[in-house]
Amino acid sequence: MSAPVPRLVFTDLDGSLLDHQSYSFAPATPLLAELAAACIPVVPVTSKTRVEIEALRQQLDNTHPFIVENGAAVFIPQGYFEQAPHGTEEVDGYWVKAMSGPRQRWLDLLDKLRPQFEGEFENFYRAGPAGIAAMTGLSPEGAVLANQREYSEPVQWRGADDRKAAFVQALTLQGAHALQGGRFLTIAGDCDKGRALDWLRTEYRRAWQASAVMDIAVGDSGNDVAMLDAAGSALLVRSPVHDFPELKRDSGVMRSAGYGPEGWVEGVGQWLAAEDPHKHFKG
Ligand SMILES: [Mg+2]
Repeated sequence: MSAPVPRLVFTDLDGSLLDHQSYSFAPATPLLAELAAACIPVVPVTSKTRVEIEALRQQLDNTHPFIVENGAAVFIPQGYFEQAPHGTEEVDGYWVKAMSGPRQRWLDLLDKLRPQFEGEFENFYRAGPAGIAAMTGLSPEGAVLANQREYSEPVQWRGADDRKAAFVQALTLQGAHALQGGRFLTIAGDCDKGRALDWLRTEYRRAWQASAVMDIAVGDSGNDVAMLDAAGSALLVRSPVHDFPELKRDSGVMRSAGYGPEGWVEGVGQWLAAEDPHKHFKG
């Protein structure tokens, strides 16, 4: 009998593993323990910053790599693999693969565009923690963590829609990419959760000396689409506030009945139980 194909779980946090309202992952605790016992890494892939995820990883008891700021960088605990993957640099005990330029590049660009779009946008850095708390509803402490960004900058558009198109075009001409999320436009380099997943999966395959891995991506929103399209199997978690996002693929996709962590358990549980999950999930 051949060795089983190693597996990987890539998961969005807010609205997927974490409840949209309460941020609880309690319903997923038994399945997370089962995945840990089976040595299946659960890799957080999120719009959050490194410091925000670090706090959560402790609660989740998760020691695996993670992907921050919508795919802008992959953080691998130093020593996690036998060797540092190519193209990474050592930062604070991690091997970091940056997929975007640094935040400062986007802050400089926004400063340059400000006279042209005076009063039409606000960004996290300029708003500061108090302004961020007002824009997001985060607690003062949460706003401080959300502001500790390394690769991207959220912008709140306050002007007219046609002006927003001109703003996005101006950013694009200067080499930036603007990703529209629920409330903010996030300015970063040309990166997404899908390309970050792809890079990290290759590193796992290399480290495991595996010709293939079976992976699942779990997400609930538009910023998850690239990773949901990139993984072997995709689990769309039902959201209480918006429809399922559209994927390019139509096979290997599951849509949960439950919301948030309940939906997460439903889909990941089925994927774990399936012998060949790539065949198991029908579009
Ligand atoms: Mg989400």
